[in-house]
Amino acid sequence: MRIADMLARSKPTVSFEFMAPRDESEVDVLEHTVATLAGHAPDWVSVTYRVRTGDKTLELVTRIKRHYHIEAMAHLTCANTADRTRQILNWMEREGVANVLALRGDSPASGEPFTPADPLLAHGSDLIGLVKRSGYRFGIGAACSAEKHPESPDLEHEFRYMRFKVEQGADFLITQLFFDNRFYFDLVARARAAGIKVPIVPGLMPIPSRRSLGVMMSMSGASVPSSLQAAIDEAADDDAVRALGVRHCIAQCAELLEAGVPGLHFYTFNRARAPIEILGALRGQQLLAS
Ligand code: FAD
Repeated sequence: MRIADMLARSKPTVSFEFMAPRDESEVDVLEHTVATLAGHAPDWVSVTYRVRTGDKTLELVTRIKRHYHIEAMAHLTCANTADRTRQILNWMEREGVANVLALRGDSPASGEPFTPADPLLAHGSDLIGLVKRSGYRFGIGAACSAEKHPESPDLEHEFRYMRFKVEQGADFLITQLFFDNRFYFDLVARARAAGIKVPIVPGLMPIPSRRSLGVMMSMSGASVPSSLQAAIDEAADDDAVRALGVRHCIAQCAELLEAGVPGLHFYTFNRARAPIEILGALRGQQLLAS
């Protein structure tokens, strides 16, 4: 089923992002997380893509669909040539994958600029255009940033290319993580004023640890509100940071649900505990159906 159709319903969707395993050492944790979170009734899930582990992404997506009967979306990036990308899309189509998140992708070497494998695929919008123009019937998601992307000169630039992704055929958007809902509300208001009608799903990260927060802030461009940063600075250890992150995420989700968001998308980092605690709290407050 197309995710955009689920997002058009009145009930907000709950979805989880899983990271495809980079090697065997990550498989057990991932399997346990998928099995655990599948029991918490997500409407859909998604699986990240890296060039060296692309097969794992496709294998996990098809397995989640068949074994758990949950709609699973494959991420795909501009890490491959256009010909190889078409081969991957053909494979997905044969396997019954219904939705693709079309992205440029992160650079494999942190701190290095992204180098496309094919000049025809330099940006997320190029991949969206390829999927659309080649006649595939996938639902197409795309990434957007509520705050400034680290490579963008300003929000204007970011907004222009977000709009271009929709013009190229993206039928829903997922935001990069953010910790202050005002960024999301401003983005949605601006999009609606500009006539962009597709659902914009907030991407949420319960803070796993100080170290992961630092990495994610530099990769995503997300900022941390000063009150949250002060609480993190005072936290005794990573358990306390994690608990703070869960509390902050519950408050963020509650406000987003009250504002009528189409869904909540959780960056799980292949850990089930925080999403379970957050969903439990939101269901306890009757903000989400059980
Ligand atoms: P782009 O849209 O190409 O944007 C990158 C930069 O270029 C931005 O500054 C943008 O404003 C600018 N830009 C966009 N289009 C143009 C254009 N036509 N001309 C000039 N400038 C342009 N990374 C992975 O490697 N694998 C994943 O599985 C993955 N999953 C993700 C899932 C989500 C929901 C999100 C939000 C991000 C994910 N990422 C993933 C990270 C993502 O690839 C990076 O954030 C990347 O830097 C941006 O991807 P994009 O598709 O938005 O790129």
